[in-house]
Amino acid sequence: MTALPTHDLPLGHLERCQICGSGALRPILDLGHQPPCDSLLTRAQLDAPETVYPLRLVQCGACGLAQIDHVVRPDILFHPDYPYRSGITPSLVRYLQGTASVIVDTFGCPRGALAIDIGSNDGTLLKGFLAKGLRVLGVEATNIAALARAEGVETIQAFFSEKLARAIVTTHGRAAAVTSTNMFAHIPNLGDLLRGVSHLLEEGGVFVTESHYLLDLIATAQYDSIYHEHLKYYSLAPLLRLFGYYDFSIVDAERIPNYGGSIRVYAVKGAGRPRSARLAALIAAEEEAGINGPEAFARFVPLVEAAKLALQKLLVELKQAGMPAPGIGCPGRASTLLNYCNIDPVLMPYIAEQSSSLKLGLYLPGKHIPVVDEKRLFEEQPEYAVMLSWHYAEPIIAKLRQRGLRSKIIVPLPRLRIVER
Ligand SMILES: [Zn+2]
Repeated sequence: MTALPTHDLPLGHLERCQICGSGALRPILDLGHQPPCDSLLTRAQLDAPETVYPLRLVQCGACGLAQIDHVVRPDILFHPDYPYRSGITPSLVRYLQGTASVIVDTFGCPRGALAIDIGSNDGTLLKGFLAKGLRVLGVEATNIAALARAEGVETIQAFFSEKLARAIVTTHGRAAAVTSTNMFAHIPNLGDLLRGVSHLLEEGGVFVTESHYLLDLIATAQYDSIYHEHLKYYSLAPLLRLFGYYDFSIVDAERIPNYGGSIRVYAVKGAGRPRSARLAALIAAEEEAGINGPEAFARFVPLVEAAKLALQKLLVELKQAGMPAPGIGCPGRASTLLNYCNIDPVLMPYIAEQSSSLKLGLYLPGKHIPVVDEKRLFEEQPEYAVMLSWHYAEPIIAKLRQRGLRSKIIVPLPRLRIVER
């Protein structure tokens, strides 16, 4: 029997695959040294030095896992003031609450059973379980935990661990369902997490994860979904291997549209359970597309470089014509995109965010573009603006038009295009 590779990663540069432990890591794309994408700066912090870390995509030659090769300390990435909040994106709210409903119905979780969400953010997903009559518990490391509590969702503010799982079983009992929809690819201590989830779940209980899906990342040249929080870029082959190490069976999986294309995986506690036809078809499709081998990225890198040059060229021309283009939306991925493309306040004077955003008044890490209330966008009606939440471009643009925005909108990926008014 071969030894189980460690899934609790060291900090700093990685020499070995995060799942299978192979040393055969192949370089794919170097995005340069970048600051953590959600560490927006206050005005006072602009006077201090700023720390950057290598941001490189590599692929394991043994198991196919696409991953980054540098681990930043989690308390730096997920600092207490981490500004991400699921409850402010209406489509995400509907989606997350629908997720809870599907899990309860598919796996027959009875009323009164316990559901736990790891990385529960403001409790949006757990509210879906509450509506189905389950008991819920959130685990959330950042201060957003307080928002969830204020809305009646019991939440422990902590990083999830096997130790915490043992404490939860003592106080709350075992769970019928555990979810990790926003954080699974972000976790550096995955071994600790999977041992903990296994302990938390009752026999036959289900662990549901969602992660960006490598197939979508490649197909739409989404280099901007690469950032330090996001350690792994999953396909099914490495996931099957990972869950197998911890005696879970992946029984089903489906592709879902979130975050520009994700995969939701249903893993049941206990080895050797049958796979759904849908899962078998997805595994076959991955083999067909060759995404777990080197050929997967042959077209990706040229597309990424072309998208970068097209955006730079257009923004320079607009600036020279006296029409610098502000950004619309400031998701984490905007930091990767703007830092990689070297877009600063000369080319992009500000980024407009909705009035409820926790990022207002702060500055984009690395490039120091101010994040302002979107009211300014409507008042100034710039000739052009760049859709930084391009993965939700259609619904956002429709809403901005309804509200009277007349600017031409530049959508930077997968291939740069301009949506006329
Ligand atoms: Zn590997």
